[in-house]
Amino acid sequence: MCTQLYFDYAATTPVKKEVLEEMLPFFNINFGNPSSIYNIGRQGRNALDIARDRVAKTLNSKSEEIFFTGGGSESDNWAIKGVAFANRDKGNHIITSKIEHHAVLHTCEYLEKEGFEITYLDVDKYGLVGVDDLKNAIRDNTILVSIMYANNEIGTIQPIKELAQIAKKSGIIFHTDAVQAYGNEIIDVNDLGVDLLSISAHKIYGPKGVGALYIKKGTKIQQLIHGGGQEKKRRAGTENMPGIVGLGKAAEMAYENIEEHIDRLTRLRDKLIDGIMTKIPYTRLNGHPTKRLPGNVNISFEFIEGESILLSLDMEGIAASSGSACTSGSLGPSHVLAAIGLSHEIAHGSLRLTIGDFTTEDEINYVVEKLQSIVDRLRQISPLYEKVKRGK
Ligand SMILES: *Cc1c(COP(=O)(O)O)cnc(C)c1O
Repeated sequence: MCTQLYFDYAATTPVKKEVLEEMLPFFNINFGNPSSIYNIGRQGRNALDIARDRVAKTLNSKSEEIFFTGGGSESDNWAIKGVAFANRDKGNHIITSKIEHHAVLHTCEYLEKEGFEITYLDVDKYGLVGVDDLKNAIRDNTILVSIMYANNEIGTIQPIKELAQIAKKSGIIFHTDAVQAYGNEIIDVNDLGVDLLSISAHKIYGPKGVGALYIKKGTKIQQLIHGGGQEKKRRAGTENMPGIVGLGKAAEMAYENIEEHIDRLTRLRDKLIDGIMTKIPYTRLNGHPTKRLPGNVNISFEFIEGESILLSLDMEGIAASSGSACTSGSLGPSHVLAAIGLSHEIAHGSLRLTIGDFTTEDEINYVVEKLQSIVDRLRQISPLYEKVKRGK
């Protein structure tokens, strides 16, 4: 790892050494096109099969139900647009939530322009979608429900099995964006009862620009990328072989010791939360205390700006995130923090620290210490904080 202290694993992760090693030959040695019949082509075909089997095994799906894509965003786009356009004869209503990733939200907004009606479900103060709210939103013309498995900003894990059951009872297709949950939760697509599930390699120590969509056999979905006959004629384009091989290896590694991984991260996460909350006053934890991703910490610091904390942390060599508002260059408060009911002021004072496989206990202690002095210093120059102190 580099000299930076990395606390932004929800944004992306480094490619693990073992993953990179398996990828490398596919750039220049086993470079054959898997559609070709000669030897190095067949080797590619073989590697493709292995990668598909590996991903399928982690989800308890059939290999034929795994389709490789150009990443989580493409998987989400395919699931939503693909189902919308293939089922237009049945209806034009789609249900999602207000806290989805932009890959889902902006796709739904696009579909609204194309004549679809979208219901954006509210969430409670923890970021949970209400099972009854979903029941009540279902109409005769509802064709798709898309609810994310775990939120990328506040880490809240949804009751996907219950939500999927409700959709199923009405014969509605259910999609979940599991990009954050994958590798951090035990996922069995059959037990969950979902029809479509999106994953991405670069959130699980694999390469960027590759992902997969699980499509349950028999799900009515249109093709998004037209061209050659790759991916059983459902997603055209010569396969990203190094990427797909990397995804397969990363997937296998992510689930080798999944329980241990979850336990370790949960312990470090709670240490980080406890450290910050006990040492720094006027803080609040965003998201659910326990139904939360093992690597996610999201905390609001009153009287100061998250962006200022980020800049100060960066000067100390610590990489973190203030949510995802700034990724678009917009300074508006995050749609997720707004949906859980935070005021603009509190939302602007929010910081997301996400940890992963290379995070150590020492790093946690160091960050708590640095945060304490940074927050203290920023509050000393905050007019809002000055008022509070005088009021006492
Ligand atoms: C990162 C992320 C995506 C997008 O995945 P890419 O592979 O970066 O396109 C989608 N949904 C969630 C929840 C994510 O965290």
